Amino acid sequence: MTVTLPSADMLTGCSQAHLTTLADGHLIHSEMHRAWQLLQHAAAADGIEIKIVSAFRSFQRQAAIWQAKCDGLRPVYNLAQQQVTITSLSGLAKLEAILLYSALPGASRHHWGTELDVYDGAAVAENYQPQLLQAEYQDDGPFVKLNHWLSTEAGKFGFFRPYNQYRGGVAAEPWHLSYAPIAKPYLRALTLDTLRYCLQRHPVAEQESVLANLAQLYQTYVLNICEDT
Ligand SMILES: [Zn+2]
Repeated sequence: MTVTLPSADMLTGCSQAHLTTLADGHLIHSEMHRAWQLLQHAAAADGIEIKIVSAFRSFQRQAAIWQAKCDGLRPVYNLAQQQVTITSLSGLAKLEAILLYSALPGASRHHWGTELDVYDGAAVAENYQPQLLQAEYQDDGPFVKLNHWLSTEAGKFGFFRPYNQYRGGVAAEPWHLSYAPIAKPYLRALTLDTLRYCLQRHPVAEQESVLANLAQLYQTYVLNICEDT
């Protein structure tokens, strides 16, 4: 498939021109709609009801999450999922603590509309609120069947999981699906310069520290993904 080159605004969550609204209200990339339906149907045939927790997220939304985490108003967790006292950290250490689970505004793959955080609605009660925790997707967690299914089937529909394993950047997120035919060229298009230009125009919490460390953050948290899972 031929992917139209994205604008800087599309890559950084400042435009929604490339999106379509699903029946459940979530926004996804228009050119991913068909592949998403095929994946959902195939899962349903195997008794799995893939549902979306989170799809497109705007720069503004990501900036609000980022600000609340920097201010200690939203919990920040370490790899052992223990809460971190974020207000006692500063500089790069503070950024790294947040970046384990939350992307930098402008650098979230969720800006692209190609990313979905998913769970299995058939495995839990209707009113279940997915927490997006490792424990839910492993061992005797409710979404272990979905996790295994995605490992063997998602690739057939063009999807992969960029955070399937922890690689020293973003924590493992087995629930995070990405649509490779669009997301791969988008990642190449999101250069360090594009990201820096976006942040210079739209300052975020800890702005000085973010810009001073941007090249390293870009390498560790944007480029450093699992390619084929
Ligand atoms: Zn995600």
